[in-house]
Amino acid sequence: MGTIKRALISVSDKTGVVAFAQALHRFGIEILSTGGTAKLLAEAGIPVIEVADYTGFPEMLDGRLKTLHPKIHGGLLGRRDLPEHVAQMAEHGIPPIDLLAVNLYPFEATVARPDCRLEDAIEQIDIGGPTMLRAAAKNHQAVTVVVDAADYERVLHEMERTGGAVGAELRFELARKVFEHTARYDGAIANYLGSVRADGGRDPFPHTLNLQFERVQAMRYGENPHQRAAFYCDPGAADSGIAGARQLQGKELSFNNVADLDAALALVQEFQEPACAIIKHANPCGAASAASLADAYERAFACDPLSAFGGIIAFNRPLDEATAQALLRQFMEAVIAPEVTPEAATVLSGKKNVRVLATGALGRPADSAWDYKRVRGGLLVQDADLRRLRDDDLGVVTERAPTAEELADLRFAWAVVKHVRSNAIVYARAGQTLGIGAGQMSRVDAARFGALKAQDAGHDLTGCALASDAFFPFRDGIDAAARAGVRAIIQPGGSIRDEEVIQAANEHGIAMVFTGVRHFKH
Ligand code: 5GP
Repeated sequence: MGTIKRALISVSDKTGVVAFAQALHRFGIEILSTGGTAKLLAEAGIPVIEVADYTGFPEMLDGRLKTLHPKIHGGLLGRRDLPEHVAQMAEHGIPPIDLLAVNLYPFEATVARPDCRLEDAIEQIDIGGPTMLRAAAKNHQAVTVVVDAADYERVLHEMERTGGAVGAELRFELARKVFEHTARYDGAIANYLGSVRADGGRDPFPHTLNLQFERVQAMRYGENPHQRAAFYCDPGAADSGIAGARQLQGKELSFNNVADLDAALALVQEFQEPACAIIKHANPCGAASAASLADAYERAFACDPLSAFGGIIAFNRPLDEATAQALLRQFMEAVIAPEVTPEAATVLSGKKNVRVLATGALGRPADSAWDYKRVRGGLLVQDADLRRLRDDDLGVVTERAPTAEELADLRFAWAVVKHVRSNAIVYARAGQTLGIGAGQMSRVDAARFGALKAQDAGHDLTGCALASDAFFPFRDGIDAAARAGVRAIIQPGGSIRDEEVIQAANEHGIAMVFTGVRHFKH
């Protein structure tokens, strides 16, 4: 591998570039640079040749034309291993450029600004930068290309080790990063232009949707062992959720683990007070909030101890020793919490297969995010369901209004039912789910099934609250709830038979509130 003799540096984000150029200079490397970057390096006392002087062609057109010149692109693209290339470069006076450090105009940050106009965005479309990056990356057999300031160190380290060269492996990795970066950059431009409306406004969903996800993990298999799988993260996500968690111990995460951990985390993030959720096959089999985390776990577990076997357990507070001790009673796949205290970690280390993860401080989920559902031949995109219950959502529709205690139970049940697959019914009392009817094809069956689960676990439903993720289409669901002992119901309302449903609640002396908000989850 050849030592680097000539470098071109042209960066929009100038972080770390002076130190990098200084180090290159110490290797005796000639440095070419564009206007703003050259000025900065010269001020730092680094000998630098302006690209305009190098090509004999001035920067012009407000910087649209800086480096687009055969002497630059020939120097980046020419193969050093082909005699014809070498001869042509010599004939036309094109010296090779062995290292390129470029980062691009901040297009994404510009269009993220609410006041960004189309003309502002257009000016932030970098032309020469991506062109040089692509040329250098294509010719990575000879050229080292750095698009990410975080890689300056690695490049220098390798040059120190080899006396001024960069090995093939790192050159290839850096080239791959370039094409990932320019793909994302062009994707952002296409997304933006595809969302601009004639009236100057923006459509939320662009004409073509260019997404980029980074592979976090190749998995042993997918939902089933005969399916191959990998886990990708969205580097731009405001709430990185499970993708941002650190695994502290245990077996490798499986495909289903990740899906269930995501569901579990989303549920506990609903609560301000200490909360625990136990997930099985994407549905909670128990959820509770309580004064202490250990209590929250005990109560979540007690909802359905049978189903909790092999569950995924999430907490919204640092996992402490007492809670970790309590967990030992059950077989579990994974545990996730914002933090795990050293004492709790010691307790869980006895169960070395259990995956233990820490997310870091759990913010409230982002205000807006997209939710994707793949269908054959396409992709459904929607706003994620981040809607929370507001006080003015609640409308009492029955003769009897809920008591303060019932209202608290209704709010709790409502927060949980949003995280249960439709049709969903949740029975709850005093911050604890007592029975959950999930994923049924009829609402009355969800109500029946939830009551049956509660009965099986030995819970008396007398006086409890019920939440339904969508309206009751008939009175039969209310009658089933009343038979089970329900005294208060929360549901969106909006059925053409609401009158009949309210009448049924009145007959049973049930207090019912409508939210006007539906939480289907499929
Ligand atoms: P500087 O601050 O050094 O004047 O400009 C650096 C920026 O200019 C970098 O983001 C680089 O990608 C960009 N750039 C370099 N050459 C060209 C060019 O020929 N046209 C355009 N539009 N941008 C360029």
